[in-house]
Amino acid sequence: MLIVQKYGGSSLADETRIRTAARRIAGLSQQGARVVVVVSAQSDTTDQLIAKARLLNPRGAAREMDAYLAAGEQLSAGLMAMALGAMGCQAVSLTGWQVGILTDCVHGNARITGLDARRILRELEDGKVVVVAGFQGISPTGDITTLGRGGSDTTAVALAAFLGADRCQIFTDVDGVYDRDPRKYADATRYGRLSYGKMLQLIGGGAQVLHDRSVELAKQYNLTIEVLSAFSGAPGTLVGP
Ligand code: ASP
Ligand code: MG
Repeated sequence: MLIVQKYGGSSLADETRIRTAARRIAGLSQQGARVVVVVSAQSDTTDQLIAKARLLNPRGAAREMDAYLAAGEQLSAGLMAMALGAMGCQAVSLTGWQVGILTDCVHGNARITGLDARRILRELEDGKVVVVAGFQGISPTGDITTLGRGGSDTTAVALAAFLGADRCQIFTDVDGVYDRDPRKYADATRYGRLSYGKMLQLIGGGAQVLHDRSVELAKQYNLTIEVLSAFSGAPGTLVGP
């Protein structure tokens, strides 16, 4: 059983939340599952990094912004691997380039073109949980690229698709996909199951629960995405054919 789990920034906001996620991951690993974890930067780290860069250069070169912003996810990956280690669960953190996420050259909005899975398969073979820094990859010129805001979802779906994972779970701060933003509308209703087309329509209407390219990629590979709460343990929403 190979499971890809992605944790968003709010699900990693502090030590308690990182531990909550780590406990779930360690549990799966103990049960014998092979687990790949994709992490976002903690809470609003990426916004803060962008603001900081703009103070020095309002139009910083896209290549430099990517090299800089990719660090947010790298920090989360290191913290998660250490949290897992503290629980006795063997884990290794890897950046996008270490894990072989190949992209085109479009800095700031790169598209994933393939996966060189050798490293990740070796680490899984060694019995380790692989913690991947989301939102990033490497271009044909060997430069760090980022996948566009919210792009860690696409990292997770790409890994699940290319590795042939049995499950792809996206953990977030809401317990699934709603017809309207449940944080703003008390009467918003949650979908149990949703087609790719309907999901893309909701994203087009402003829903931010999933990165649009993650849904396009899942559709291409016929992969079902599970959107779940990182906190509640409730069943969530399935996005599939
Ligand atoms: N940290 C990036 C962002 O804030 C990517 C992500 O969270 O998926 O857009
Ligand atoms: Mg997101």
